[in-house]
Amino acid sequence: MNAPDTPTDTAPGIGQNATDRSRKLVEVKNLKLYFPVYGGLLRRHVGDVKAVDDVSFDIYEGETLGIVGESGCGKSTCGRAVLRLYELTEGSVRIAGEDIATLSPEKLRRKRPSMQMVFQDPQASLNPRMTVASIIGEPLDEHTDWSRARKLERIYELMDAVGLNRDYANRYPHAFSGGQRQRIGIARALALNPRFIVCDEPIAALDVSIQAQVVNLLEELQEQFGLTYMFISHDLSMVRHIADRVAVMYLGKIVELAPVSMLYESPLHPYTEALLSAVPEADPFTETHKERVVLKGDVPSPSNPPKGCNFCTRCPKVMEICRQFEPPVREHRPGQFAACHLYEETRTAGTSGVTRSEHNETSVQQGEDA
Ligand code: SF4
Repeated sequence: MNAPDTPTDTAPGIGQNATDRSRKLVEVKNLKLYFPVYGGLLRRHVGDVKAVDDVSFDIYEGETLGIVGESGCGKSTCGRAVLRLYELTEGSVRIAGEDIATLSPEKLRRKRPSMQMVFQDPQASLNPRMTVASIIGEPLDEHTDWSRARKLERIYELMDAVGLNRDYANRYPHAFSGGQRQRIGIARALALNPRFIVCDEPIAALDVSIQAQVVNLLEELQEQFGLTYMFISHDLSMVRHIADRVAVMYLGKIVELAPVSMLYESPLHPYTEALLSAVPEADPFTETHKERVVLKGDVPSPSNPPKGCNFCTRCPKVMEICRQFEPPVREHRPGQFAACHLYEETRTAGTSGVTRSEHNETSVQQGEDA
C-alpha cells in the first residue's frame, strides 16, 4: 500500500515486523491527569479525581505495550492522555521526540496523522449517517488536498488491507457485524499512515468468536506497516497473545511493568498475581486445582486514594509500612519493574526472592534505558 504524502513523520526504513529496541517512539514521563471536583454553593474546587497519577513508561518502535487493569483503573484515560485527547495536568508525552503536551493547537493538528486511535465500541464510534467510504475517507478530507479519485483509491487500499470487500464502500455501518465495523474503524485509523496507534479495548464489544480475528488483523497490520501499539484491555489472555511488554495499572498508577513472559510466568506485585489467578486455564485439571487470589473489598475512590500504597486496602500481603509510605517503582529483575514494599523488605534483609543482586532505584523509564 502506498503511503499518502500527508504531513506525517513516518520514518523511512523502520524495521518492519520487529520491535526496534534502540528507538523509543513514545516517552511518557510523570503523566498526571486529574479531573477537578467542585462542590458547595459557590462551586469551589474541593478535590480531584486522580485518574492517572504519576505514570512513566516508554514504547519502542514496532512494539506493542499492553495496559491491563480493572475497570476504572485509568488505563483508557491514560491512552487518551497520551494522544492528548485530554489536556494533561502534569508531565510530558514525547512522540517521535516531540512533546505533544506543549504543542499549539495547529501544530497538534499537524501531528495527529502520525498518532491515531481505535475505539472500544465500533457501533458508537462510527457515524451511522456516513457511508463506509466517507468514514474511512474523513481523515483524508481533513489532512490532504487529494482529488476524489485519489482518495477513493486510498479508501479501496485500506479496505483491502483490513479485509473488507470493496463493494461495501457505499453501505452504512448498520449493515455490518461488530467485527466488520471494527475493521472500518481500523481502516479509518490507518488512513493517514500513522506510526503509533492506541487501541482502546478494541475487542471488548465484540463476540468472542470475532475477537481473535480482530487481534490477528492488528498483528498483521503491525507487521505490514511497522506500527507501534498501546493495547489497552482487561482481557489478560488476549494481551498475552499480542503484547511484547505489559503494564499493570491500579488506581491510576502503574504497579508493575515487565516483558510479557516474565509478567505472566513470575509476577512480582500482589495485584498482578490476583489478576492472573482469575484468568481461566484451557486445561480443566489446572483450572480446578489452581490457587485463586480473591481480592476483598472495592477499589477505593480515585478522588480519595489510601495513604501509602494504593493497594493496601485490598492486598492479601499488606504490611504496616504499606499504610504509611508509597512504595517506589524499582527494577527488581532485568526489565521487570514493580512498586511494592515486599521486595524492599526482603532486599533489606538480604533474602530477596528476586534474582537481581543489585537493584536500581529508578523510575520505570530510567530503568528501561539501562
Ligand atoms: Fe501489598 Fe504492601 Fe506491596 Fe502494596 S506495598 S502491594 S500493600 S505488600
